[in-house]
Parts: sequence; C-alpha cells; structure tokens
Amino acid sequence: MTRVVVLTSGKGGVGKTTCTANLGMALAQQGQRIAVIDADFGLRNLDLLLGLENRIVFTALDVLAGDCRLEQALVKDKRQPNLALLPAAQNRSKEAITPEQMIELVSKLSAAGFDFVFIDCPAGIEGGFRNAIAAAKEAIVVTTPEISAVRDADRVIGLLEANDIKTKRLIINRLKPAMVQEDQMMSVQDVQDILAIPLLGVIPDDERVIVSTNKGEPLVLEKKLSLAGVAFSNVARRLLGEKVSFLDLSAPHDDLFSRVRRLFRG
Ligand code: ADP
Ligand code: MG
Repeated sequence: MTRVVVLTSGKGGVGKTTCTANLGMALAQQGQRIAVIDADFGLRNLDLLLGLENRIVFTALDVLAGDCRLEQALVKDKRQPNLALLPAAQNRSKEAITPEQMIELVSKLSAAGFDFVFIDCPAGIEGGFRNAIAAAKEAIVVTTPEISAVRDADRVIGLLEANDIKTKRLIINRLKPAMVQEDQMMSVQDVQDILAIPLLGVIPDDERVIVSTNKGEPLVLEKKLSLAGVAFSNVARRLLGEKVSFLDLSAPHDDLFSRVRRLFRG
C-alpha cells in the first residue's frame, strides 16, 4: 500500500516545499521508497531544494501526454536512491493538469511500488490546490505561528474535511522559542488550540534551513544534524508510527537548554 500525503498550507512561504524536501529525504534515509511530486505547476521549486534541477529531462506533463514513461520522468536522487522526484513543468498555467490526471499520476506511482508519495501543494485554495489534494489520503498541514498563516491553515483544514481527507496532521514551522517565552509569538499550544488536529512536529526557525535551500541540500543530509534537522527526522519517524517526544514549550521553569536536550534525546 502506498501512502499518498499532500503537504498544504493555504498561505504561501510557510515551508511546504522545505518540509517536502526534508521529510522526503528523511523517510528515504529511513528505508522508505518515496516519490515527491511538485504540484506547483507554474512555479516549481522542489527540484531546486533537492538540488535536482539540472537532471530534469521529462516532466509529469510528458508522462500524461504519453510522450515518455513514468520511469523516464522520475529523477532519482544521487545521494539517496530511495528518493525520486516527479517534476512539474514550468511556464504553464496552474490549471495545466486536472484532478483526474493527478489521480492517474499517483496510481502510476503506486503501481511502481513506492511506499510514500508526497505531493507538494501550491499556495492558495484555487485550482492548483484542488489538483494537489485530489489523490491524497493523508494531509500534512504546515503553518508558521503567525495569525495570518494559522487562519489560512484553518480554512484549508475545512476544505480537506469537505474533501474527505480524514488523516490530517500539523507541522508548526519556524518557531522561535525565545519569542514564545516573551509572549511575542503564538505558542505551539495556542496554534494547536485553534487548529485542533494532531501535532506531527515543530520545526525551529533556523537560518541553516535557508542556506540548505540555496545549496540544494536538505538539512537532514548533514552529518551532524542541526536542531531543525533532528526535528525533521523526528517527524519522519512519527509518520512511520514511532513514538518520539516533542519539544515542550509550555513546561514551566523551562529553558532553551533543557528543550534542546529533550529534543536530542527524543
Ligand atoms: P512554501 O513552499 O510554503 O511556499 P518554502 O518551503 O519555499 O515555503 O519556504 C519559504 C522560505 O522560508 C524559504 O526561503 C525557506 O528557506 C524559508 N524557511 C522555511 N522553513 C524555515 C525554517 N524552519 N527556518 C528558517 N527558514 C525557513
Ligand atoms: Mg512551495
């Protein structure tokens, strides 16, 4: 059985593509065969985050048009053979494919024996969003702890509900613990209270994420994992059903060091 997971948010720029690249790589490192689909037709960038942009020959649209086989369009990661990218075509409108075509692509990937298919959703809740969720059985909702992102995530959760996607889990990205402590940023608990779906993970804000994006090397490839890298790797383990403890930001008399220690133990 292939697990088909869409990563979505409503608001753009909150970290969907970053999460897709890092979780995809982390799951592959943990022995899962995974295909990541860039469903952002028109504004693709998953290939850049994975550093695979120069290796694209065919795209999902060529597969659908019958111009190539699925295997020809899939770009295998050189560093991690369990990971493959199905690229989107650039310079076409977001309506370039239909929900039915997305379902067709995903069923081809299932038939090819992947354990996971991750679908990186475009921003917004228009056509591109509907295509991206059409084939998904599970959703990972990504938000930052900002009111505008949380509000959009809430709308998206409603739409996922309406589309019968029952398994919905939350990633809170770009958390700044020091700001939370000073009451200048929503806490994990605040966000969870509003969105009321199970928490899959919390990723700290870390400039190394931006550096890794620019290098095309997901953080989870680092030899000595940074905090954000550990957080991504923990999310992957939770997806596989492992119990991994969370950053606890609500604990009284807490300090950054004990949180860091707990994260590493987890
Ligand atoms: P989306 O796909 O939702 O539009 P991206 O994954 O492209 O968002 O991320 C938007 C920007 O935020 C990128 O520049 C990325 O490097 C940065 N970013 C994402 N997650 C983090 C993080 N945890 N810490 C710091 N920067 C981040
Ligand atoms: Mg994106």
